[in-house]
Amino acid sequence: MVASVIILISNKRGRLGKTNVNAENQKSCPFCAEMIPAPAKLCPRCGQWLSLGSFRHPVVIISVMLVFFFGMAFAISTFFTRLVNPPPYYDEYLGSLKLVESRLNWIERDKQPSGKENQIYITGIVTNQCPVAWRNIEFECRFFDRNGKMIDAANTSSYFTIQAHDSSAFRVSVLPTAPTNQYAAYKIFVTTARNVKGWLF
Ligand SMILES: [Zn+2]
Repeated sequence: MVASVIILISNKRGRLGKTNVNAENQKSCPFCAEMIPAPAKLCPRCGQWLSLGSFRHPVVIISVMLVFFFGMAFAISTFFTRLVNPPPYYDEYLGSLKLVESRLNWIERDKQPSGKENQIYITGIVTNQCPVAWRNIEFECRFFDRNGKMIDAANTSSYFTIQAHDSSAFRVSVLPTAPTNQYAAYKIFVTTARNVKGWLF
């Protein structure tokens, strides 16, 4: 569509130019060497644009459209990001969500169509030591064997809300990928959270 618009403009200018040739005030076109009117920005003979300063030069039109397109894309994505998670962001309050206690439980669950599987549940209490309320808290869990070697890890989120200068209990579940008897110790910490003032999701 951009290309066809430019061609239309070029053709129109080309025809108009031919009828306006003035014998007294002429220059030679650097592209086709024909004599053309001195003020011409578009050669009426070969159709070449002679000045980048022309508003209707294809490079100028395409540049303006690209700047506009990327500007709009950036504005729209920023707008939706702020709807979901408005500032201030958790990055500015890193470490303000702290686990004061947690414990790990193994639960045996029925696995369809037949059999059993073990699942890890971690329950605990998080405190919020900053003036911003958070939700969608994301946890990183690391699991270690008896020698302290990491054998499994999981990132999991929980959708509870924790008010400013308050604490909240939580529970997250993890499906183990190493043999059950290798899990000797674990660590869990908060990686990020969203500001509760966001109203999407
Ligand atoms: Zn020319």
